[in-house]
Parts: sequence; C-alpha cells; structure tokens
Amino acid sequence: MIHPLDLLDQRNLPAPPEPLPSVVIDSHTHADTTEERSGLDPDTSLALAASVGIAGFVQVGCDVQGSEFAVALAERRPEVIASVAIHPNDAARAGDDLDAMIARVDELAGRGPHVRAVGETGLDFYRTTDPLGHAVQRHSFARHIDIARRHRLTLVIHDRDAHAEVLDVLDAEPAAPRVVMHSFSGDAAIARRFLDRGAWLSFPGVVTFTSAAKLREALRVVPLDRILVETDAPYLTPVPVRGRPNAPYLVPHLVRFVAEQVRRPLDKVCEALLANTHAAFGGPWGHPDAVVPLPERRR
Ligand SMILES: [Zn+2]
Repeated sequence: MIHPLDLLDQRNLPAPPEPLPSVVIDSHTHADTTEERSGLDPDTSLALAASVGIAGFVQVGCDVQGSEFAVALAERRPEVIASVAIHPNDAARAGDDLDAMIARVDELAGRGPHVRAVGETGLDFYRTTDPLGHAVQRHSFARHIDIARRHRLTLVIHDRDAHAEVLDVLDAEPAAPRVVMHSFSGDAAIARRFLDRGAWLSFPGVVTFTSAAKLREALRVVPLDRILVETDAPYLTPVPVRGRPNAPYLVPHLVRFVAEQVRRPLDKVCEALLANTHAAFGGPWGHPDAVVPLPERRR
C-alpha cells in the first residue's frame, strides 16, 4: 500500500498541517467526491486526518447513491457517521422520481446507529432559480425534516441564498431533534435567528477568505458551544491552501483561524469543537482520542 505522504506528493495535494493539541471532527465532508476529484481514498484520508488530530468526519450524501455510500463507509469505519438525503438541487431536477428517492432516504435513515443525520437538505436559490424548482425544494425539505423527526436524527441544512425561506420552513414544520446549519453563510443577524432556534452553525474554509468579513462577524457572535467546523470537501479549502482540493486533514488550518477569531486558546477551542460535534450529532462516536502518527515513510 502506498504511503499517505507519497500519495499527497503524487497527487499534488497540500502537505499536512501541524497536528492540533487535541482531536476535532470534520462535521461535513464528501469523501466519495473527494476521491473522484483528487484521488484521495477514504481510508488514506482518515489516516492523514488522524495524524493531525482530526478524529473522523460526518460523511454526507446528496443523492441515493451517495447516501448508500455514506451508510456503507460508516458501517465499515468507526471514525465515520453517515448523513443521508437528496440535495435540494438534485431534488429540483428529480421530476417524478423524487418521491421514490426520498422513500429510499427514509429506509437508509432507519439503518441503525451509524446513521445519525438527515441531510444535506434545505433550499438553494442560487443554483435553482425557477419558482417550480423552489416549490419542489420546499416539499423535499419538509419531507426530510419529517424523516429526521421520526428517526430522531440530526437535520443537516444546506441554505444558499435562502435564509428567510429556510427559517420559514423550519418554523412551519414540527421540529427535528437537532439542527446543524451546514456551511453557514449568513451574517451576524441571520446567525442569531438560527441560534434562537437552537441550531449549531458549521463554519467552512470560506470564513478564512479575505472576502468573508460578514461571515467572520457572524462567527464572533456565535457562542463557543454552538460552533462546528467542516471541510465540505472537496470544496471550500481554507487559507493558506485555498485553491487546492480540500480534505479532512486540512481542518487544522481552519481550527487555528477560528481560535484566533474567537480569541480563545487553541486547546480550549479544540475541546469545545469536539464536544459540540458530539452533541450536534447525538453523542460520541468511535474514534481515537489522540493524534495517531503515520507509519515511517520508506525512502
Ligand atoms: Zn456538502
């Protein structure tokens, strides 16, 4: 088997950052898409992540195939839990197949302890622009909320250019047990409205971008016990490796940035992020609680 660092060299992926003082979990990733884009397979990704203090991740499905992949990976790897759903943009394109797709998500949501979340669901008015598409997304979102509620799972919400409408749907439907705003993209006022509804806000690498001043203002008003971090890999790679493919082993860059922004010691921020991720996804899951070094590299 190829050494993880040799794979990074071969694929021109960024070098691993300095390990964190204690472990943190990536609250939202797409290991399947990451492998397609950058050739980093889920097992090597987990080994690299563990070597810098990222003890696991939430593998998020966006369609039936991706949700089945998430469940299979979570059943095989104790560092991984699965989130299952039809993404709002996929829902808008699904046509007559949508109800059967959502029924399959419902089945997967009941598959047992490795499946902890329903998502990513929600509304995307950036990529879906027609009123019919928006109506289909609202219908799909409500169905996913119902699945999360019946199976007692965390609801993982994708909200792009639709903050007010997402809040409307959340207020209109019976509440899911726990709500995570994935790749939160609002300002401080929007953050407060989601916090009022008990949500955790998950911050991606975007928060490190120069252009994201409003998102940093939002981060600074969120109580430390409501902050999560995520890659959304292979997208949204944080500074200083922005522009390269993202993966969970790069999360320490984001965690260090968040600690600076909230002006708390790095070790306290790591402890809080781990506790928050466990709380947001219904309790701890099996993972080492220390940094796991990579094996020696043969020269
Ligand atoms: Zn995502």
